[in-house]
This record gives sequence, C-alpha cells and structure tokens, in this order.
Amino acid sequence: MSACLLGRPCRYDGRDKRDQELIDELADWEVVPFCPEEAILGTPRETIDLVRGRAIGNESGRDYTEAIRREAEDFARANPDLEAIYLKAKSPSCGLTSAREYDENKNLLSHRASGIFAKELKKWYKRDILKERR
Ligand code: SF4
Repeated sequence: MSACLLGRPCRYDGRDKRDQELIDELADWEVVPFCPEEAILGTPRETIDLVRGRAIGNESGRDYTEAIRREAEDFARANPDLEAIYLKAKSPSCGLTSAREYDENKNLLSHRASGIFAKELKKWYKRDILKERR
C-alpha cells in the first residue's frame, strides 16, 4: 500500500494522505507499505512530473524513471504473494489510471496515465489486485 495512505508523512512536502477508511478496512491484514519516491529522494523532496512517460524532477530536471522502475521491481520480487495493492491516485509514481502526463512544455497530454511505479507493478501482478485510492 502506498505509505502516504497509511498516514506516513512521506509526500514531497512532508505531509501524508491518510485514508482512515482503508486503514480500518485492512485492520486484520498484514500491510506492506512502500514509497518509491521517498526511498530514492527522501522527504521533503522536489516534485516530479510525468513527462512523456518519464519521471522528471521539476527543480533539477533529473530523470528518475529507471530508479522508480527498479523500486517497483525490487518490491515485486520481495512480495510475490499479495492479495491486493492499494495505490495513491494521481501520483506520477503510484497513480494507476489517474496520473497527469505532460509534454516538454508542460501541456497536459493525459490525466489518465499510469505512474512509473504503478506501470511496472502491472507487469508483475494480476491487474485485478491493483486498486487505486483517491
Ligand atoms: S503517492 Fe507514492 S510516491 Fe507519492 S508519497 Fe505516496 S507512496 Fe510516496
């Protein structure tokens, strides 16, 4: 589960996206949190945008795509038998069908793109266990 949904203050600005309804729903389950951006960049950090399928830092211009993809691969290898994966919507990393994608000039190309982490998870898990939370 995206760690920010669990209440971990791991968003770029040090805040969380606690989803108490989901936390209550999963009270009897073992939950494995992940935050690919924090693992790579720490918190707080620069914001990232999805630019033509790449994860680009808004301040540095650095391309984090491969690092985020590797985080997803490592996570999937370490956790092959999951019942469900809950992903934070709209994130350029975790968004499943709701990430905003831009061109090089920041024109919006899509608001239904997959973030880099979610896109990689789709290769490793059955589609029906991947769920998105707003
Ligand atoms: S959406 Fe994903 S990358 Fe962003 S803070 Fe939450 S867990 Fe981390």
